[in-house]
Amino acid sequence: MERFRMELESLSKNEEFARVVVTVFMSRLDPTLEELDDIKTAVSEAVTNAVIHGYRGQEGKIYLSATAWEKERLFSVTVRDEGVGIRDVEQAMEPMFTTCPEDGRSGMGFSFMEAFMDRVEVVSAPGKGTSVTMK
Ligand code: ATP
Ligand code: MG
Repeated sequence: MERFRMELESLSKNEEFARVVVTVFMSRLDPTLEELDDIKTAVSEAVTNAVIHGYRGQEGKIYLSATAWEKERLFSVTVRDEGVGIRDVEQAMEPMFTTCPEDGRSGMGFSFMEAFMDRVEVVSAPGKGTSVTMK
C-alpha cells in the first residue's frame, strides 16, 4: 500500500495540478486510459467544488490525499476543504442541484463523480468543511 498527501492553495489553477499529481500517483497501478480519465475528471470536479463552493473564491487550503493498494488494484482519493460546508449533503448530491445557477453551474459535479467512480462518500458540516472520498 502506498499513500501520498499534499496541501494545495484554493486556486482554480491548482485543479490541473491536482489532476496531474493524482494521474502520476495512480499510474503505478497500471490503469487503463479510461480509468485514468475517470479519476482525473472526478478529482477535478471535487477540487473545483472546494475552490468555488467551499472557499467561495477566498483563500484556503485543500488537502488532497490518495492511497493505492497495488495487489488489489484499488485506489482511493480524498479531497478535503475547511470551507463553508454543506447543510444537506443528500440534496447537494442530487443531479442538477446547484446553489449557483446564476453562475451557469449545472449541478452535475457530484453526479459525474458518482458516475466515474465506484464509490463516493461525502462528509460535511456547515462551518467545518467538506471531505469527498472516492474509490
Ligand atoms: P457543476 O459541478 O455542474 O459546475 P455545482 O458545483 O453546483 O455545478 P455539484 O458539484 O454537484 O454542482 O455540487 C452541488 C452543490 O453542492 C453545489 O452547488 C454546492 O452548493 C454544494 N457543494 C459541493 N461541493 C461543496 C464544497 N466543497 N463546499 C461547500 N459546498 C459544496
Ligand atoms: Mg461542482
